Amino acid sequence: MKLESFVQGQWRAGRDRIEIRSAVTGNVVAEATSGGLDLRQALAYGRDTGGAHLRRLSFHQRAELLKKLASYLGERKEQLYKLSFATGATRGDALIDVDGGIGTLLVYAGKGRRELPNATFLLDGAVEPLSKGGNFAGRHIVTPLRGVALHINAFNFPCWGLLEKLAPALLAGVPVISKPATVTAYVAHALARMIAESQILPEGALQFLVGSTDDLFEHLTCQDVVSFTGSAATSQALQRHPVIAREAVRFIAERDSLNAAILAPDAAPGTPEFDLFVKEVAKEMTVKAGQKCTAIRRALLPAAHLDAAIAALRTRLASVTIGNPELDNVRMGPLVGLDQRRDVLAHVATLRQEAELVAGDPDNFEIEGADARRDAFLPPLLLHCADPARATAVHEVEAFGPVCTLMPYGDLAEAITLTNRGGGSLVASVYTHDADTAAELVFGVGAFHGRLVLIDRDCGKEQTGHGSPMPQLLHGGPGRAGGGEELGGLRSLAHYMQRTALQGSPAMLSAITGSWSKGAPLVLERHPFRYHFEDLAIGQSFSSKERVVTLEDIEHFAHFTGDTFYAHMDEEATAGHPFFPGRVAHGYLLLSFAAGLFVDPDPGPVLANYGLDSLRFLKPVVPGEAIKVRLTAKEKSPRNAQYGEVRWDVEITTGAGDTAATYELLTMNAMRAD
Ligand code: NDP
Repeated sequence: MKLESFVQGQWRAGRDRIEIRSAVTGNVVAEATSGGLDLRQALAYGRDTGGAHLRRLSFHQRAELLKKLASYLGERKEQLYKLSFATGATRGDALIDVDGGIGTLLVYAGKGRRELPNATFLLDGAVEPLSKGGNFAGRHIVTPLRGVALHINAFNFPCWGLLEKLAPALLAGVPVISKPATVTAYVAHALARMIAESQILPEGALQFLVGSTDDLFEHLTCQDVVSFTGSAATSQALQRHPVIAREAVRFIAERDSLNAAILAPDAAPGTPEFDLFVKEVAKEMTVKAGQKCTAIRRALLPAAHLDAAIAALRTRLASVTIGNPELDNVRMGPLVGLDQRRDVLAHVATLRQEAELVAGDPDNFEIEGADARRDAFLPPLLLHCADPARATAVHEVEAFGPVCTLMPYGDLAEAITLTNRGGGSLVASVYTHDADTAAELVFGVGAFHGRLVLIDRDCGKEQTGHGSPMPQLLHGGPGRAGGGEELGGLRSLAHYMQRTALQGSPAMLSAITGSWSKGAPLVLERHPFRYHFEDLAIGQSFSSKERVVTLEDIEHFAHFTGDTFYAHMDEEATAGHPFFPGRVAHGYLLLSFAAGLFVDPDPGPVLANYGLDSLRFLKPVVPGEAIKVRLTAKEKSPRNAQYGEVRWDVEITTGAGDTAATYELLTMNAMRAD
């Protein structure tokens, strides 16, 4: 396998050759070509071609691309599983990598369709009035950056790493240059080839860079984004690049993390929480041979439960079959390579200066279907640090392999202090069935963590795992973990977009943003319910006649609906009331009257009223007072070829001109049939 880069729409070989060896056999499985490519041109091509194509698409169209890509890759994933064996991944490990990546594409596709407008930019927050006369206002818009997202990935998840970074960038409208870690680049390369062959993405949306980044950093600008996963050392070196500082290039880092699992005092041996703790610690040590940024490195537990935990973990870890990941009965494969094994053993030697080995022997263990002398295998290594308060290395050294240290604590305050000694982590898990204990831990360690998993008997069977980042939730952590935030649903789009405060007249702001706001011109022609989706202009409006709300109306509504709340029924009970001058009309009666006042009842393009947002009752309406309503087309978002969503600005005012209620009404309006 010769690995080439995909730049400027073509597969190109680099100048140098790097041999990549199988983690299982030690044989060469691929040859990466690296260096000598014109990366300034690659950046320019991404910005000018990929960026331009993506920015022309709406969020919904980009989401559709992600969905198509997920389905295309899903049909071809077997090839990726097969290649993954040579990285040391079992089929279960590859499932996390490959299916996890495809699943992330699907989550972003779904969220893009459901939670984003069918537009090319976002509105952030409401209109902010800035002048007394109402002719000057402000509003925030969010637009895609005009650069390239450079994604530098770690070796451990060649597929998930590429896809979990790709999905939010493309959805935001920013093209990507993805650089895999060389040691497992043949899996990422196969994935990138599939994506290129699918021709689903617009030209220039994804480039793939094998090997060195050469002079690429020299050509980054303030419109580019670097998203890095890997070691703290590399991350710091790259962040120190002068161009990163000079251009204020956004840099998202996800790096070393000394993640903790905390067994609470109530989770004594014999409780479901104790068993869940043991199961999760063992799982996190063995999945991907512990080479996961989210794996449990430190397991904290009450001193009284220590012996039982060591015994249970010894039994559980002893049952893990280590060996050739292609064999069905093998649960843990080798590390990614001999260098990694050496690295882990060196770190274990450091940890052993403060902790004793209580399970696993790196010099004596069984492996199936492979040669232990030639390969990168290690058994799960469980350590016990008797005095974690005085120890330092156990809180600082990340042995990126099947290694975990047990640490006894006295009380919850000490558990919190020890957990936070990690200096900022991606994730911690808490095992307790006591909500007060959980709350104390959550608020004690929350600020040091990007994610907290609360595991107990109620969710034990369904919980998604300490080590599994979910696309809907934040992945990243402060301090040692890099200070970055990935995923988190649509939150991650913000990395690839610029927020801009716009100031201008309401008319100008409405015209630019496609969102009508008070003070912008109203178009009063035919009733707006008579227009098809395409013909309805933002600002088209209807102002109703007045209707007097009588005491009989209030009585009737109260008895008809059963809402006989005292404020509508009992004059005496409202005496001295802070809001009501006496009996007042129901808010929902006003809404019903408003619907009756603005409706245009004949069959027409309005298909359905499907919701109401941001309802506020601002001034009570007393019996005998008149109300009227204004209905204005505020925003439109096409849904498909048949219909689109219309958001209406609705204001109910009293006869005296006071605003009684405001809300946004949502309707589905038909497109023209022609
Ligand atoms: P590295 O930091 O060495 O590599 C990560 C990525 O950075 C790779 O794609 C690598 O490419 C690239 N890279 C390295 N040097 C440069 C450079 N000068 N310029 C541009 N890109 C560069 O981490 P590894 O993947 O080798 O893992 C080493 C250690 O990092 C692990 O043992 C573990 O401790 C930690 N790690 C932590 C992770 C986490 O999320 N917490 C995840 C993975 C690793 P190339 O492979 O071509 O050198």
